[in-house]
Amino acid sequence: MRYKYKSESRKYKKLKPRVGRIAILVSLAIVVLAISVIGVKSLVSIFNPPEPKPMALFKHETTLLNEQTKTAKDIINRDFPIGKDKTGHSALSDNIKIACLTFDDGPGYESTDYLLKVLSKYDVKATFFVLGSRVEQNPKMLKRLVKAGHEIASHSWDHPDLTTLTPEQVKQQLDMTDAAIIKAGGKKTKLLRPPYGKYSAQIEESTNKGIFLWNIDSNDWRHKDDPNASANVVLSSILPHAAILYHDIYESSVKSAEIIIPKLKEMGYTFVTASEFADMTGAY
Ligand SMILES: [Zn+2]
Repeated sequence: MRYKYKSESRKYKKLKPRVGRIAILVSLAIVVLAISVIGVKSLVSIFNPPEPKPMALFKHETTLLNEQTKTAKDIINRDFPIGKDKTGHSALSDNIKIACLTFDDGPGYESTDYLLKVLSKYDVKATFFVLGSRVEQNPKMLKRLVKAGHEIASHSWDHPDLTTLTPEQVKQQLDMTDAAIIKAGGKKTKLLRPPYGKYSAQIEESTNKGIFLWNIDSNDWRHKDDPNASANVVLSSILPHAAILYHDIYESSVKSAEIIIPKLKEMGYTFVTASEFADMTGAY
């Protein structure tokens, strides 16, 4: 065996110079081809990639849009990426750990009912970014969420990409959603999570709602068969000030939340609503 190995390695050595030359020629050809196909500029950006964009931005209107700070520059300077505290401006020390559980696209039916039980068991208040159309279909569940003390916020009427709509259509999406929430027993919403996290400066200017995104994406919709997988996503990417994205329309998402809540409590996290999160981290 040993001998065979040696002879094979000798054979390999003999081949090596030729293979080396071919490899150099092939790599040169690939580089020339790459430059001609994608251009020098793109090639430079591959080797020198731009700074990654923050996962999410957070802005809270009550602390930002007072008369003295209403210039666009101030607003931009005060926006901060959650979790990038070296460059961001969180007013809260990293030693204070807070988690904000947010549930989008509901209210759901059985899954939301189950979630209410889980949240009540652990005495956690969450935030529901609801769709107006779903509130209209299921006003009883909205009422139960309000009664249990959870925060209700807006996620538009029927989940369009708001950046593709006219200002009037955006207004209609938000107004109709607030009307449905109020009719079901809730209050006018203060926070907006635009569908897909997509919004423009114009949308931001035209609404007096704070834009509230997330900095931890559970990816629950990818793991509908495995709540442990999305729980692991959250726990492995957890931040001192964590705004966690879930959807209460999937039972697996609720099970995933049921896994992470006691774990985060053990780790010293306090659970807060989105408005509380905004006030604690954003006011400075
Ligand atoms: Zn959504």
